[in-house]
Amino acid sequence: MAQTVVLRALYELQQIDLRLAELERRVSAARERLNAAEAVRQAEQAFREAARAMQQAEEQLKAAEQRATQLRAKLKRSETRLYDGSIRNPRELQALQAEVESLRRRLDQAEEEAVARLLAYEQVEARYLEALQHLEAVRRHWNVERQQLQAQIQEDEARLARLREQRAWWLNRIPADVLEQYEHLRRIRGGLAVAGVREGVCGACGATLSAAQRQQVYRMTLTHCETCGRILYPLD
Ligand SMILES: [Zn+2]
Repeated sequence: MAQTVVLRALYELQQIDLRLAELERRVSAARERLNAAEAVRQAEQAFREAARAMQQAEEQLKAAEQRATQLRAKLKRSETRLYDGSIRNPRELQALQAEVESLRRRLDQAEEEAVARLLAYEQVEARYLEALQHLEAVRRHWNVERQQLQAQIQEDEARLARLREQRAWWLNRIPADVLEQYEHLRRIRGGLAVAGVREGVCGACGATLSAAQRQQVYRMTLTHCETCGRILYPLD
């Protein structure tokens, strides 16, 4: 294989490999984002907590109302007995009077508690509705973002497939020993094995090439940068 073709193939391979790495990073970041859906998870959690709090407040309200209803009925029965003249015994009457007073006090307390429970319930309900609205908004927003992410992944996957085909095409034009050098350089030089040369300067490390090296590079001979070791490719 002519050196010119090999060099060209190396240069193309390098461009493709850089693009592949970038696209692969982007796809995996998008996939991670799809899996996380952090905002939705948080909003769901907040909603569940608000729903639990509302249920609890509702139960407490019902219990307070029930206590007040029971006391009201009991008070009514005692008052009826007190005033219907069925009890004549003064000591019994006095005891009943005391019971009625005690029941009135307890009923007052129970009514106060029921009102407090109702107010507390209203607050918790407002927070619940807020959490529900927030969750719906976050879900709507997420649906849009998810579709965008999925579309982006699909597009990138198609690009990756095309690039892999191109990669295979150029790969066939590079001898095994040169390819080995290329892969080795990529591993030890941060993914960049082929450096472009402009005006006699290595595009990767910035070193100025010697006149002899420069001549080799422009004659399309496989040359390594004396400073960074990368394969050099002329761009001007
Ligand atoms: Zn260099």
